[in-house]
Amino acid sequence: MYKNFEEFLAKEYKIDEAIIKLCLDAESEITPVFAEIDETAQYNTLKVLRAMQKNKLSEAHLASTTGYGYNDIGRDVLEAIYADVFGAEISLVRPQLISGTHALYVALSGNLRFGDELLSPAGKLYDTLEGVIGVRKTKNSLAENGITYKQVNLKPDGGFDFDALEKAIGKNTKMAAIQRSRGYDMRRSFTPQEIKELISFIKSVKPDIICMVDNCYGEFTGIAEPGNAGADLTVGSLIKNPGGGIAPTGGYITGREQYVENAADRLTAPGIGREIGPGLGSVRHMLQGFFLAPNVVAGCLKGAVFASKVFERLGYEVSPRPDEKRSDIVQSVSFKSKEELISFCEGIQYAAPVDSFAKAQPAPMPGYVHDVIMAAGAFIQGASIELSADAPLREPYTAYLQGGLSWHHAKIGIIAGVGKLKREGFIR
Ligand SMILES: *Cc1c(COP(=O)(O)O)cnc(C)c1O
Repeated sequence: MYKNFEEFLAKEYKIDEAIIKLCLDAESEITPVFAEIDETAQYNTLKVLRAMQKNKLSEAHLASTTGYGYNDIGRDVLEAIYADVFGAEISLVRPQLISGTHALYVALSGNLRFGDELLSPAGKLYDTLEGVIGVRKTKNSLAENGITYKQVNLKPDGGFDFDALEKAIGKNTKMAAIQRSRGYDMRRSFTPQEIKELISFIKSVKPDIICMVDNCYGEFTGIAEPGNAGADLTVGSLIKNPGGGIAPTGGYITGREQYVENAADRLTAPGIGREIGPGLGSVRHMLQGFFLAPNVVAGCLKGAVFASKVFERLGYEVSPRPDEKRSDIVQSVSFKSKEELISFCEGIQYAAPVDSFAKAQPAPMPGYVHDVIMAAGAFIQGASIELSADAPLREPYTAYLQGGLSWHHAKIGIIAGVGKLKREGFIR
């Protein structure tokens, strides 16, 4: 028995007591931000609860189908609940959508035809999408299928470049892909309000452009979602925010009926679309995870704010800063060297519930250009809603920290990571 948490943590993880004190002092200064996070979680819990009640979720829905998955009533009600929460007409929520990248690919390729152009109106898209689009040469990319791509970068101040956008939109521009989260970039995440301004502008130039938002890491960080901001399609991963750490796999595509149907035809087959797709026992987990997700996201946000405050105090460059408005759960911290970055990621790994004895190592990853170090000891493979730190090994040596199934675990992991940096002499 230890006398309290501080002593327990210091002894078990061999953490300098001054570091623990610095972290706990930092925590006491961010309580107003925590209060706001709790308010958002409270609102979103009610939002999800009401969607479950209005759609008359019942025990019978928690069973699941196999084979073709015809008449999977649990899957159907899950999809209706997602549509309501995300401000959409219909949705596709499936274990057969294996990842965020897969869901985004299905949404894009289902809606783009030979000769169409895809526009990124707000800078570079997530690394894995470069292979999907063909920015990085791959077999079977959209480019190989006759779909062109144009990108309008953000202005130096981080704002949207409306003049350049107006010039970039042409008669073939069919879709716009907007990434809410920062991804592996130093830019801010976009709030639904900012996304609304961007979509309104795009539609004022050419009203029939299908505006798709990559919502990965953004769900439930505020009370609005992209569907409330005029997005025609909203896409994300269930091993991130909306799966609540419980969904074993899956992705979602929500939005206007016609566009979601087009995506469904690509996922299964033309003429069949959403009619098939067995729940395979995952529907209950997806529902339960969705129910918990607002609260899990709140824990992640608290962890992110805490890390931001602690590292800012220690003199590191952090983004967002502790009191900055957030529209995703990602926190970046820039380290001074590759060695320091790797050391911190190892610290996060050692504080994980699963594979805590493993040493995180940089390695090549499918879909990424640089070697990536990914520290995660997760119950669900690769789930970054669980406490995790990823970093492509390139300058600046920035770690992207996210997740935490509970605020209490996020806090332990971050203090353990900082304690390790101190022990190894990276912090004086
Ligand atoms: C994680 C992520 C993706 C891709 O998701 P995977 O599940 O890793 O394929 C796409 N966009 C953003 C912004 C993400 O954070």
